[in-house]
Amino acid sequence: MKHTFPALPLARRFAALPPRYYTATPSTPLPEPHLVAFNAALADTLGLASDAAAQQALTEFLAGNSALSGYPQLASVYSGHQFGVWAGQLGDGRALLVAEIDTPTGIRELQLKGAGRTPYSRMGDGRAVLRSSIREYLASEAMHALGIPTTRALALVASPQTVWRETRETAAVVTRVAPSFLRFGHFEHFYYRGELDAVAELADFAIGHFFPECADAAQPYLALLDSVVARTAELIAHWQAVGFCHGVMNSDNMSLLGLTLDYGPYGFLDGFDAHHICNHSDESGRYAYDQQPAIALWNLHCFAQTLLKLISKDEALDALRRFQPLFEDAFAEQLRGKLGLIAWQEDDWTLFTDLLELMQAAHTDWTIFWRRLARQHKDAALRDLFLDRHAFDGWLERYRARLADDGRTHGERIRAMDAVNPRIVLRNHLAETAIRAAEAGDYSELHRLAAALACPFDDVAAYDDYATLPPDWASQLSVSCSS
Ligand code: AMP
Ligand code: MG
Repeated sequence: MKHTFPALPLARRFAALPPRYYTATPSTPLPEPHLVAFNAALADTLGLASDAAAQQALTEFLAGNSALSGYPQLASVYSGHQFGVWAGQLGDGRALLVAEIDTPTGIRELQLKGAGRTPYSRMGDGRAVLRSSIREYLASEAMHALGIPTTRALALVASPQTVWRETRETAAVVTRVAPSFLRFGHFEHFYYRGELDAVAELADFAIGHFFPECADAAQPYLALLDSVVARTAELIAHWQAVGFCHGVMNSDNMSLLGLTLDYGPYGFLDGFDAHHICNHSDESGRYAYDQQPAIALWNLHCFAQTLLKLISKDEALDALRRFQPLFEDAFAEQLRGKLGLIAWQEDDWTLFTDLLELMQAAHTDWTIFWRRLARQHKDAALRDLFLDRHAFDGWLERYRARLADDGRTHGERIRAMDAVNPRIVLRNHLAETAIRAAEAGDYSELHRLAAALACPFDDVAAYDDYATLPPDWASQLSVSCSS
């Protein structure tokens, strides 16, 4: 059964927690909102009818111009470590939880990002600009289509309202959807305030709703830490495999559920560079591509510390030590698929790291390479992606010998590899092109790109232009924390 706004089947899960976790905050009305994008496929899985008659009222709601009668508007409080330094209280400075919907696949929270100031806005204006909202909308759905755990994006609403960043921009609101937006930082907040009963209450909340298997464990809190470690390891293996750089892996941007969360100055690798820094504001390269696994573990330490009254230090350290082998196993599984192998063998690490060395030297395009590798038996131009072609020929001989062990036909392997190596990822210049058109009032490119990103593994001729090497100007683009 489909539900038409505003008659939504509401639940109260986060909103049923005591008030120490949030502040009821009315959204700030947004003038002249219009719906730029609506994710009908996601709406469908949520059981929401895309009813034309209800659309005006829905747009007003998604702009923060109305609230549901049966649900409050809540800004949650959290803290966190930013760039390795304790930052104290942060919180939803521009996001509001505006609904929990009971859907066929479970309860989903709806959050409006950019809906105005909250008690946690600090110096911020509570708004998000169209540029960064488009980036969040596109990336959420691109990651989902790639099979990578992520918060989702239901809608994008824009307004002519001026928002000042480095220059004059306009406001927009993204509706984010997730089972929960709990962050490591929620736990850190109460731990550092010495409110350890709140840490236990949040842990019980998390176990009860999101990690039910932990409830039956001998030590539920330790099982929770184990699960968060495992989910984070799995997430980062996905990021590394697809070449996704988050850009701001502060502990307040780490999802307890292991979802990709808070899309800001992220980037997908074009040419491979292990040390790639996607965030212009990250001067030291703390969050460079090859640092992401270690930073994830660093953040897990921050989270584990908050549980130290519930589990022993030795238990916590043992759980954290499981991150590296879990990450390696998950990453090996990703690489097995990318290389088109049937089973991973220990020697395959050497095959892979030798390949990376050649790719690093040539800044070989990360996405195009894997797609072409599937066709190595007939793609004479594959070697042209490398500077040292003879060295690559040598690597290819070894790879072919390895493939011979598996005995797959070329056709079988191409099908398997094309199902895991995307043809299209959200390169910065693709987002930028859609943003420039949208800022000039033309959303057609945004819609075409969103449609292409929804089927990133398919060979669709109409999207060929998204699958080419980036243009020269792409390397001049810079994205920063300003959003
Ligand atoms: P971020 O760098 O986007 O993860 O944000 C870090 C903190 O700053 C979070 O508490 C955000 O809610 C807050 N914040 C970011 N931008 C704004 C803004 N424009 N207005 C209010 N708060 C913001
Ligand atoms: Mg954040």
